[in-house]
Amino acid sequence: MSSRGYKRRVAVVTGASSGIGAATARSLARDGYEVVLGARRVDRLEELAAEIGGRAQQLDVTDAESVERFVAGLDRVDVLVNNAGGAKGMASVADADLDDWQWMWETNVAGTLRVTKALLPALEESGDGLIVTVTSLAAIEPYDNGAGYTAAKHGQAMIHRTLRLELLGKPIRLTEIAPGMVETEFSLVRFDGDAAKADAVYSGLEPLVADDVAEVISFVASRPPHVNLDQIVMKPRDQASARRNIRTG
Ligand code: NAP
Repeated sequence: MSSRGYKRRVAVVTGASSGIGAATARSLARDGYEVVLGARRVDRLEELAAEIGGRAQQLDVTDAESVERFVAGLDRVDVLVNNAGGAKGMASVADADLDDWQWMWETNVAGTLRVTKALLPALEESGDGLIVTVTSLAAIEPYDNGAGYTAAKHGQAMIHRTLRLELLGKPIRLTEIAPGMVETEFSLVRFDGDAAKADAVYSGLEPLVADDVAEVISFVASRPPHVNLDQIVMKPRDQASARRNIRTG
């Protein structure tokens, strides 16, 4: 069915089962969007979808068939939030774990490419499409032992920034959100479930929380069609760069 058959605008959020994605799904639902939530942990998605009146759909962005099934269930898409992603491990280039690098590439880079490519026709058809990609400070600067993640986030950002050029003239806006430290399950995933290591990342400073980022995404989505916020870098006050922060607590 064509997008004109529906009244409510539809927002697709990838990685909506936790952290920034879950907060964004809540925020966009509050704004009146019908939200389609995608991630691998369907139980969590279903719980959140029931809470916000959205739709839960299994999605593994590293699996082409899963992306195909996900996209086949969508009739209309006005907003795509490319949020699924993350880091695995922290190691110097000399000690790089190729499996971790592969995971980060597949999830952040190829995953963003698969979903975005598949949804471009629907976003154009909407007449006022928006692609928000959650990259990172890691897409802007390097840090010690972070090359696997910074390489992946730079790769993901390049897809997004290149599309900003390639889509000129089409009714699709593009916004890159590059956050610094946000306390979510990000570090727990990065350190393979080691809670002590994950907690240490945020100790002594006040990190951003998922809602801080979600509110900005809602603001971006609420601008009129001619206003394109190209890139938003968000950091906690206690963090000046990917390499420098202050721990006073
Ligand atoms: P999070 O709580 O770990 O959330 C990550 C989300 O990505 C989860 O919903 C996860 O869902 C999903 N995901 C991971 N692999 C996936 C796959 N193969 N297919 C589909 N979904 C997948 O971490 P977060 O901080 O909210 O991360 C969200 C985004 O923000 C990521 O792109 C991350 O790189 C970026 N970011 C985070 C920070 C930070 O400090 N937290 C800073 C800058 C940027 P399932 O496991 O259920 O699939």
